[in-house]
Amino acid sequence: MEKTNNKYYLIIIILLAFILVYLTMMTIKEEKEIGPENTTTVIVNDGKQITNDEYEYKEDLLQLGYSVNEVEKIEKLFTKDEVKNSLLNEKYKNLIGFKESEYFDIDNLSRYQKYFDKNEYNEKEAVLYVEIGLDYEFYTNTNPSKVEDGKLILVNKYNYISENYDADLEKLGDGYGKGSLNKEAAGYFRQMVDAAKEDGITLKSVSAYRSYSSQKNIYNNYVKRDGQTKADTYSARPGHSEHNTGLAVDINTASTSKHFENTKEYEWLINNSYKYGFILRYPEDKMFITGYKFEPWHYRYFGIETATKLHEMNVTYEEYLVMIR
Ligand SMILES: [Zn+2]
Repeated sequence: MEKTNNKYYLIIIILLAFILVYLTMMTIKEEKEIGPENTTTVIVNDGKQITNDEYEYKEDLLQLGYSVNEVEKIEKLFTKDEVKNSLLNEKYKNLIGFKESEYFDIDNLSRYQKYFDKNEYNEKEAVLYVEIGLDYEFYTNTNPSKVEDGKLILVNKYNYISENYDADLEKLGDGYGKGSLNKEAAGYFRQMVDAAKEDGITLKSVSAYRSYSSQKNIYNNYVKRDGQTKADTYSARPGHSEHNTGLAVDINTASTSKHFENTKEYEWLINNSYKYGFILRYPEDKMFITGYKFEPWHYRYFGIETATKLHEMNVTYEEYLVMIR
């Protein structure tokens, strides 16, 4: 009987020894992984406690002024490299909101924050508008348009074509109004005018292609009359006008006082022009994006495919270009 008891004691002692060795090994392993200096517990303002053993930059972010919740979100939303390279120099108070935008680019973070602080937009809008480049004043940060984009060329107050741009023109011809358009655009313009006629709608061009030099004259005359600031709201600087590309046409009028937006011709164009590749380019309430007040008469040719997408998405071409990239 005694011998059996001794045997049990021995087994228990051996088991305890194993457990002790195992626990010691685990402790050593843990210390190696975390490192003693990283196991501190940080108590932040709101009384919450946080140990930084699972996240390398937690303490840095807390010191920048992010809350515990924000730090947890940052940990989920950003890689360690992103935090290390872009987030440790200053606090971006709307960081989490900006990151919710699908157009977010970590390199533009400080531009987002500046633009957000200066304007009344929400974080997602701020990201989109900065990606368009709207945080630069019109006619600053300008670049040559990409001529290789063909009929999809972007021409606005940030992008311009040169004096030598080849618009590949064709006269619109009798019954279609004044001027010339790019060959492809001219063909579709005539188709559109013919289709409108069948619906009892009369459309004609009052202004189509304008050369660089004629744009220069027009713009300079407006500047003389109204001053540059005002002229810039309704007339483009040379090279910055879509009319210089042969891809834009003013239909029936080019005057705000005519209230083309109240006509059945305008309604027809809004519902049908995209089917022929044309889109209202300067809609109401988008001046901060396009740089132009509402021009119900100005239509831009993009081709049926892109015009249809723009129509369906109901966005300006500037917004569209960010959304599809
Ligand atoms: Zn126009």
